[in-house]
Amino acid sequence: KESVMAGENYEDDMHAKETQDAAEKTALEELQDVRRSLPIYAYREQLLQAVEEHQVLVIVGDTGSGKTTQIPQYLHEAGYTKRGKVGCTQPRRVAAMSVAARVAQEMGVKLGHEVGYSIRFEDCTSDKTVLKYMTDGMLLRELLGEPDLASYSVVIVDEAHERTLSTDILFGLDIARFRPDLKLLISSATMDAEKFSDYFDTAPIFSFPGRRFPVEINFTSAPEADYMDAAIVTVLTIHVREPLGDILVFFTGQDEIETAEEILKHRIRGLGTKIRELIICPIYANLPSELQAKIFEPTPEGARKVVLATNIAETSLTIDGIKYVVDPGFSKMKSYNPRTGMESLLITPISKASATQRAGRAGRTSAGKCYRLYTAFNYNNDLEENTVPEVQRTNLASVVLALKSLGIHDLINFDFMDPPPAEALVKALELLFALGALNKLGELTKAGRRMAEFPLDPMLSKMIVVSDKYKCSDEIISIAAMLSIGGSIFYRPKDKQVHADNARMNFHTGNVGDHIALLKVYSSWKETNYSTQWCYENYIQVRSMKRARDIRDQLEGLLERVEIEISSNLNDMDSVKKSIVAGFFPHTAKLQKNGSYRTVKHPQTVHIHPNSGLSQVLPRWVVYHELVLTSKEFMRQVTELKPEWLIELAPHYYQLKDVEDAASKKMPKGAGKAAIVYFRDVTLQGGFKPVSE
Ligand code: ADP
Ligand code: MG
Repeated sequence: KESVMAGENYEDDMHAKETQDAAEKTALEELQDVRRSLPIYAYREQLLQAVEEHQVLVIVGDTGSGKTTQIPQYLHEAGYTKRGKVGCTQPRRVAAMSVAARVAQEMGVKLGHEVGYSIRFEDCTSDKTVLKYMTDGMLLRELLGEPDLASYSVVIVDEAHERTLSTDILFGLDIARFRPDLKLLISSATMDAEKFSDYFDTAPIFSFPGRRFPVEINFTSAPEADYMDAAIVTVLTIHVREPLGDILVFFTGQDEIETAEEILKHRIRGLGTKIRELIICPIYANLPSELQAKIFEPTPEGARKVVLATNIAETSLTIDGIKYVVDPGFSKMKSYNPRTGMESLLITPISKASATQRAGRAGRTSAGKCYRLYTAFNYNNDLEENTVPEVQRTNLASVVLALKSLGIHDLINFDFMDPPPAEALVKALELLFALGALNKLGELTKAGRRMAEFPLDPMLSKMIVVSDKYKCSDEIISIAAMLSIGGSIFYRPKDKQVHADNARMNFHTGNVGDHIALLKVYSSWKETNYSTQWCYENYIQVRSMKRARDIRDQLEGLLERVEIEISSNLNDMDSVKKSIVAGFFPHTAKLQKNGSYRTVKHPQTVHIHPNSGLSQVLPRWVVYHELVLTSKEFMRQVTELKPEWLIELAPHYYQLKDVEDAASKKMPKGAGKAAIVYFRDVTLQGGFKPVSE
């Protein structure tokens, strides 16, 4: 009987498969037509020839002309993938995922098979993968395991104009020199081509024209007090007054996009049923992939789409059909003060180069309009020409650790395209020394080697490595995973805020601090066997939790690799807190009389974020995960600590006087004294001369 059943099914399957095949064929054919209509197609042969003739090639073409999706396919068709993979780096995870999905579709293969992507904590590739899209950070990590990138025949560093830290480091490593048979393609939107060429020993530039239609630029006549409001009003005005065509609005992050979405929905409802449909599509880094695809769906006849995007849509993703761009003129940027070593996310005015790119997005398929929510005077006088490369405005600890583990010690002579401030390099070395990742000579220690295995900020890696000593690695990797999700964990719908806040405060019982509250969330979820229902009941984002679980699984795998056993110490939360402090001791602050905090090492006024479980408690001493600057400088994810821990755990960093007034009595005699070591004379070549006083 079974075989009959199977036979029947088989026929059904065959039939279904045939019709499906036929449908797919036409869809595939259509996609091939689309491929042939892209501007780059006309230059296919010339491009392949140039790649054949030169080892390093700079490729310049307008955004949307087909560089990212087509070049890897051309290389595959030309046989390069017989000798090794074609890797293509992207500065952003969403771009890597979305472009890989598109290319898999164009090639008619399953994503993760011949075409795949690799981003931090998510590897969607297999043995079959020949075209691999990846974040530039992931390629850098691959180098740690495969320093000559032997499994690749071509590496494309895409979106090079973005000048991310990882891209700049990849450039400086000059992989092509060690691998004469490796092709290195640097692809960029129109900016900076000469600079790239000069940097790579006058590598030839292959540039091809895109298709651009005129874009009318409008400035506001007076500065806008509230760009969110101005953006909403502009979108609605376009929707009501202007001919059909989709709208793209640039915001600085997920929060803003969610707010804008909510306000827009509300206002649209208020406009009644007479106006046409407005489809709202958000896109930002943590948007789940099912929803990411939505922005590319064609707009139904008679309707209009408005895409609310972060910088991702500036050059990385091209959405066809955009006719109107609304540009408030801001983006969220990391900023780093090398003097204090403090890093913060900041909403910053964009550069003229960015403004030009944004406007250009309106003129891809027909003439368009760009509405800048700032004045022409602002544009001319206040905006910088170009965005400062990330290497000059970020904490370098994590790349210095990566470079050290690649065996590169001479950092001062590292061939940076634009060198970072020397102070920032010194700060990175100091921090790594204080974390115990480097010894006095600037050499990688055993702990440093272990830390480098984790795709995390060195402070987080240290926290994990040290948890071995305190026998609480199980708890610590849960916390590390929860801190690495990137999106929000708690869900706070407007109409149920009180319920949501109560649910959240349950995890804070006993004022355990935010880190341990995160641990409680994770463990409670695990106890319910990862129940979705439990998440709903507790106002917790299911998706974030699933991501935390994935990340945690990977961290667990890495623990095994560095030979740290999983151990749990649930009765002793001080061990957990000590592990946190052992990694995050540079992020400590002390309460002031007025309820604000001062950071301990480089005094700066900061505040506990209102979302923290400790925002009403105000412990005397706290350690925090990160600073965010909004209306004030806020500490996010805060835990109480005992000041004497600072001297116990970070003797190279803290001196008795830093923690004196509170702790002195409890301090063991002489503690701290012998430990007062700090740097003078840091030579960037790698040696320190720690000075004892
Ligand atoms: P470039 O890299 O030169 O900016 P791309 O290769 O990214 O250009 O884009 C080429 C074309 O492919 C564009 O028309 C874009 O809209 C389309 N495209 C890219 N990704 C997707 C996707 N995920 N879904 C649908 N179309 C896409
Ligand atoms: Mg591209």
